[in-house]
Amino acid sequence: MQPCLADLYANPSSVHREGQRARAAVERAREQVAALVHAHPNEVVFTSGGTEGDHLAILGAAWARRADGTRIAISAVEHHAVHGAGEVLTDQGWAVDHLPVGPDGRVEPDAFAPAAGTVLVSMMLANNETGVLQPVEQIARRAREAGILVHCDAVQGAGKVAVDFRSLGVDYLVVSAHKMGGPKGAGALIVRRGAPLSPLFRGSGHERGLRGGTENLPGIVGLGAAAEWGARDLATEAERLAALRQRLEAGIRAIAADAVIHGDRAPRLPNTVNVSFPGARSDHLLMALDARGIAVSAGAACASGAVEPSPVLSAMGVPREVAVCAVRLSMGRTTTAAEVDAVIGALRESVAAAGALA
Ligand code: PLP
Repeated sequence: MQPCLADLYANPSSVHREGQRARAAVERAREQVAALVHAHPNEVVFTSGGTEGDHLAILGAAWARRADGTRIAISAVEHHAVHGAGEVLTDQGWAVDHLPVGPDGRVEPDAFAPAAGTVLVSMMLANNETGVLQPVEQIARRAREAGILVHCDAVQGAGKVAVDFRSLGVDYLVVSAHKMGGPKGAGALIVRRGAPLSPLFRGSGHERGLRGGTENLPGIVGLGAAAEWGARDLATEAERLAALRQRLEAGIRAIAADAVIHGDRAPRLPNTVNVSFPGARSDHLLMALDARGIAVSAGAACASGAVEPSPVLSAMGVPREVAVCAVRLSMGRTTTAAEVDAVIGALRESVAAAGALA
């Protein structure tokens, strides 16, 4: 990315030689992103990240299919970026159905029965709180049979598990650079060739007319590098992380026999553990861990002192008193077994400290 801030500064749309050097960097990144998800480079549309990609796919597909119906379906456990796009449609008079999940956090494909007039279904690849993987391929097959377009938010999964745009059978797929070690504020929407899409930003024909605006060259180059990094040794890295996760979960169970690991009976991302230690509230546990140099995120939102359970855990039927104790621990390519052991030690102390506050 650094050369893009100085030497490679030109506008990729400029015709002069400097502009064409910048264009080449954009196109190389397009190939890197396409390679990560086994799509064609012409199917990649650069965006400002996952939120924009989700909005572009959902609103763009819905608006393009408006004549066929004004209804979409999204899974109950989608990210706010997807629920947000659903709210825009609701404001415009559309119906938005929420597909329930079972206690394991997954939508049951056999229960997928879209209402008449549904033009799009949105199903995430991996949940951002629990890491639970959705049966996207099966849902997409059923949707296709019913003539319904499919959007998949793959922001959490890309770079952590293999993603094949074609075999998933979806029309739109979204990735974000910062979930793969790249910069914040860069992402891409993969649009199947021939899939309808109405742009959100109309401009000077950028991104084949699907996303107006001068390209964020450093961000795009960073996304490309992150995609290449994410694709490298994916299977062996996933295996290594799964072993670390097992080590972490064994440590968690040794700390508290009543610890609840959310989604542990479903296929999950290898790097994510969402756990409740009943009696140790999320916000207290987060602060106790932070004081020990461990950064986790709370599975519950704290608004003006009151802890609210995560809608994802609520959708899975997790009782409120357990859900307000959830924290998410994530690992990455640089995480070592020694670090996992250090986290287990810090958790042991922090759970006791947080429990004493409750
Ligand atoms: N979708 C999922 C599943 C996410 O986890 C996130 C970010 O946390 C987003 C979408 C939004 O992506 P971005 O932060 O790039 O806008």
